[in-house]
Amino acid sequence: MEYRGKKVSDGIAIGKIFVYHKWDEAAHRKASGDAETEIARFVMAGEIAEKQLKALYEKAKAEAGEESAAIFQAHLTLISDKELRKHVEDLIRDKGISAEEAIAEDGDHYLKMLISSQDELLRSRGADIKDVSRRLIRILKGEDGHGNLPGDPVILFAEELLPSELMQLGSSRVLSVVTRYGSPYSHTSILARAMHIPVLTGVELPRDADGRTAVVDGNEGILLLDPDERQLSEYAKKQEEDGRQEKAYRELIGKKSVTLDGKELPVYANIGSVSEVSEVLSCDAEGIGLLRSEFLFSEASDYPGEEEQYRIYKEVAEEMGGRQLVIRTLDIGADKQANYFHIREEDNPMMGYRGIRVSLDRPDIFKPQLRAIYRAAWFGQISVLFPMISSLEEVYRIKEILKEVKDELTAEKIPFKEVGIGLMIETPAAVMMAEELAREVDFFSIGSNDLTQYTLAVDRQNGALEKTYRPHHPAVLKMIRTTVENGHKGGVQVGICGELAGDPTMTETFLRMGVDAFSVSPSKVLMLRDVIRRIDLRKD
Ligand code: PEP
Ligand code: MG
Repeated sequence: MEYRGKKVSDGIAIGKIFVYHKWDEAAHRKASGDAETEIARFVMAGEIAEKQLKALYEKAKAEAGEESAAIFQAHLTLISDKELRKHVEDLIRDKGISAEEAIAEDGDHYLKMLISSQDELLRSRGADIKDVSRRLIRILKGEDGHGNLPGDPVILFAEELLPSELMQLGSSRVLSVVTRYGSPYSHTSILARAMHIPVLTGVELPRDADGRTAVVDGNEGILLLDPDERQLSEYAKKQEEDGRQEKAYRELIGKKSVTLDGKELPVYANIGSVSEVSEVLSCDAEGIGLLRSEFLFSEASDYPGEEEQYRIYKEVAEEMGGRQLVIRTLDIGADKQANYFHIREEDNPMMGYRGIRVSLDRPDIFKPQLRAIYRAAWFGQISVLFPMISSLEEVYRIKEILKEVKDELTAEKIPFKEVGIGLMIETPAAVMMAEELAREVDFFSIGSNDLTQYTLAVDRQNGALEKTYRPHHPAVLKMIRTTVENGHKGGVQVGICGELAGDPTMTETFLRMGVDAFSVSPSKVLMLRDVIRRIDLRKD
């Protein structure tokens, strides 16, 4: 049976399907009919959770210190909270529902109450309740923390997948990702591309797809369920061909990204985790053009402090051995959330509290990150990049903070080095102000994903608007051209780091516009080098 979906990431996968359920979808289990049995199950789950949390607390304390471990202490307190326990038990008795359903309902009840609270502390309790509820439900369902993925790598099918969920599942266990909802420009898709796995969205599989064999053809946007022998061998051959093409690209390692008429253009890599650095090196990228720092922390249970970030940035800088490393400051908000940030629910998160807006509002988070970056600059070629800029005032404020940070480091006699300063150009406001902004900084990086979203007023996450979300729309291309021209007038180099940078059909157009650099997923670096090496700008 053939299913068509939207192409997100190239490649072919052959394997068994694993249907991934989120905790709240999975919560619906019929009650046994006996309230006391359900309550006993709930009590037993509480005891197991307590043991797990105590072990986690000890582990975190030993590996990351008391402060990081505190989150588990808070969860332990919640688990033993008499009022919460009583509420769940009452729900089981009064409504005749299962322990899982009662926990989910109880969690929702408190979440709604707490998450909208003005009080920071209460809001943080909301996120903790969600975590604890999730843990209890997983225990009741007999799952481990990773949705019970089988040992062999699988083709993962989910209704929808968050970036943090994909990260937790891990690339070694996932051959391919297929989702019902989602968009090629979402962060989950970007991560999946970085993981080199074929991805499709917009596919609706039958309920009993779990465990059945499938072929995912990310190049054509097709999923074959229960393929026959002929199809299996045909796709195995295609996989081999892909392997041969990959080998041909690898011949370009050590060669320059230069056009036939001699214009050199660095092709950098975008990464979201330290583990991807080895891939950047193996694909011979000229450097890291975008380190999405928010993803480094989405798995953490609390905000990582200066020392932890310093260690990470230093390690990446050292591994890059003198090649460029551009660290983007936290671009949290919208579809990139972390529980510990406790960002209040917004009606319009894409236009909301995200990126530099959060950083400028939270010097307690922003300054440690900047200090870590300046300190790590001793060990490599580091620049810092600021996301979601929409005004000159933001840049003035950033520069004031940078000065404060350097003054403080100097006063504390902590060694640091100057870093290049870059701005993400991803709002139409930044495009219109490009010349003025350029005079304040060292370089621009065009975030075409968000620039498309904000220019066309189309939510990049909304799969239903896929036809309207068009990065090739002339308005977006004019925005890019204007940014390059005005950036150059203001004296900065202009690169592109959104997904459009890796579209080979656009490379020549961008070169003719005067774009100075590209930053793409590591899987696309050599392909792009190949494209650049075939372009001759002398020809019309
Ligand atoms: C972009 O918006 O194009 C970009 C590179 O940033 P992100 O995808 O992380 O929002
Ligand atoms: Mg962006």
